Amino acid sequence: MTAIQQHIAAIRSTLPEGVRLICVSKFNPISAIQEAYDTGERDFGESHVQELLPKYEALPKDIRWHMIGHLQTNKVKQIVPFVHLIQSVDSIRLMEVIQKEAAKIGRMVNILLEVHVAHEEAKSGFLPEELPEALEALKRMPNIHLKGLMTMATNTEDETEIRRCFHEARALMEALQLTPPDYQLSIGMSSDYRLAIEEGSTMVRIGSTIFGERHYQ
Ligand SMILES: *Cc1c(COP(=O)(O)O)cnc(C)c1O
Repeated sequence: MTAIQQHIAAIRSTLPEGVRLICVSKFNPISAIQEAYDTGERDFGESHVQELLPKYEALPKDIRWHMIGHLQTNKVKQIVPFVHLIQSVDSIRLMEVIQKEAAKIGRMVNILLEVHVAHEEAKSGFLPEELPEALEALKRMPNIHLKGLMTMATNTEDETEIRRCFHEARALMEALQLTPPDYQLSIGMSSDYRLAIEEGSTMVRIGSTIFGERHYQ
């Protein structure tokens, strides 16, 4: 087993049933993704379209690609034909463009709405109070399939604050009647996925714990 494969085995042994592992492969080479693939992993997350495209071309077609980084509207067209789940949908404008491009090719596109619950200006996403309007807008978007919510916690070591973020996302799901198992709650990264699982995560997005520190940027 390679180091990457050992890391995946260790993480897998801690994931309860019902929590899906997304291997965040951004900034890591195709060879590293292939190693993870060879252990049976099929869900991979990337945050830049220009990095995702060559990886999609080079790697097996049964990989489920997750877009997890901020998505510019002018790049939507390039990923709509194959993307499995766009997790970082953060505006109605972006939803409209996804709808338009998906309709053009007759595809249904799965999305998560990214919600901003962190106490941090730099993070993107809908504010909680904006979500009802986004859900309303989805009614006019027949090519978009809403699969749940995604969020990132405040970048801090304060466990109480991280839990507050996750708890708030989970409470929003309840309030909007978007609850598991029909809907996903994508919370938890390398530093906080254990807390996220305790707070109801159904999808963890793990990069550096699997692949080590980034190889390139
Ligand atoms: C990079 C990234 C991750 C993974 O982060 P790690 O700390 O490497 O596990 C998860 N989610 C998003 C949105 C990311 O951009």
